Amino acid sequence: MKVGDVLTAEKSSVLKALDALRRDWRIIGPTRGVDGEVVFAEIASSQDLFFDYVNELDPIKRFFAPQTEPLFRFRLEGVPELQPPEPPPKQILFGVRSCDVKALEHWDKFYGGRFVDELYFARRERTVVVSLACNKPLPTCFCICTDTGPYLKSGFDVQLTDLGDRYLVEVGTEKGLAVLAQGGLEATEATEADLKQRAERMRQCDAQFVTTAYMAKGIIQLTQGRVKPELWEEMGRECFSCGACTHLCPMCTCFDVQDFMEDTTCGVRERCWDSCQYSGYTRETSGHNPRAATSRRVERRFFHKLSFQYMQQDGHHGCVGCGRCIISCQAMGLLDLPAVLKRLRREGQPVEPARTLPQD
Ligand code: SF4
Ligand code: SF4
Repeated sequence: MKVGDVLTAEKSSVLKALDALRRDWRIIGPTRGVDGEVVFAEIASSQDLFFDYVNELDPIKRFFAPQTEPLFRFRLEGVPELQPPEPPPKQILFGVRSCDVKALEHWDKFYGGRFVDELYFARRERTVVVSLACNKPLPTCFCICTDTGPYLKSGFDVQLTDLGDRYLVEVGTEKGLAVLAQGGLEATEATEADLKQRAERMRQCDAQFVTTAYMAKGIIQLTQGRVKPELWEEMGRECFSCGACTHLCPMCTCFDVQDFMEDTTCGVRERCWDSCQYSGYTRETSGHNPRAATSRRVERRFFHKLSFQYMQQDGHHGCVGCGRCIISCQAMGLLDLPAVLKRLRREGQPVEPARTLPQD
């Protein structure tokens, strides 16, 4: 077995390998929540896995940067001391959907830029991502418009495709190869017939997408400053500033850092998720807020997700088409990404004089 191999394995063999790996690894996969919803959680046995799902509402970003996490503890008495957190456990994320895997590439760039975030990469390096290509999109999915699914060419350690009683197993990285070997996966080289069957499944999946996102037109409108200010103001009136869209977006990375004192001598510095849709996010110490109006924050969010400037910088859209903002947005169909793209598409005319684009 080597990186790049395409194999097939009985489903029972894949589950057997997972159970064998559980001795050394924390295994996280799709399980059934109390109300029947899908929740990615640690499993005690492969029997706990729940496969009849498309995507879970909570993105997997929480397994790399939890909603609240201690960065270090500190003691101020005498010589100040910093105590870093324990190293994270080794974990396998099993059955992750393609859009979520693609979002991780963005997180790697964000946390690995000018300042490399050791805490994030400690988790990243100790995590193996086994993705499960989608055979059936949700009505809200539009990864086909953002080129981030429903199956992947890269970004996974191992990619599985459901072929009925077997999985097609693609080995993406050395890390993926190592866990397959450690789990003792019994697999054989995929045949022409297997590859044909996969291609047919892909074709059938592609044909089932119902949500469209007019990415190109939206990018042009926004990047060229053609969106009338009145439209942002209208959207600002519709937004509840609840931040649900950003908390559930697998691409959103904003965080805040706060110190909590336990007594006068020691405490903990914590990082917690934040949202560019909250008015406090950009408020400065002086009290001045460059984006006090909700409309400016909504504009800013879509500029980040869609402008060509960001695409050049990051190499991709700020959206992987998972559709979570369609499900979670309190403005019910007015402010999710495809809805906003539709509204931008109808804004055809250049605004004169050209507006100054948000630069930060
Ligand atoms: S903007 Fe919406 S559809 Fe796009 S990645 Fe974020 S939550 Fe998913
Ligand atoms: S957006 Fe695409 S990759 Fe994500 S769950 Fe839906 S079909 Fe799968």
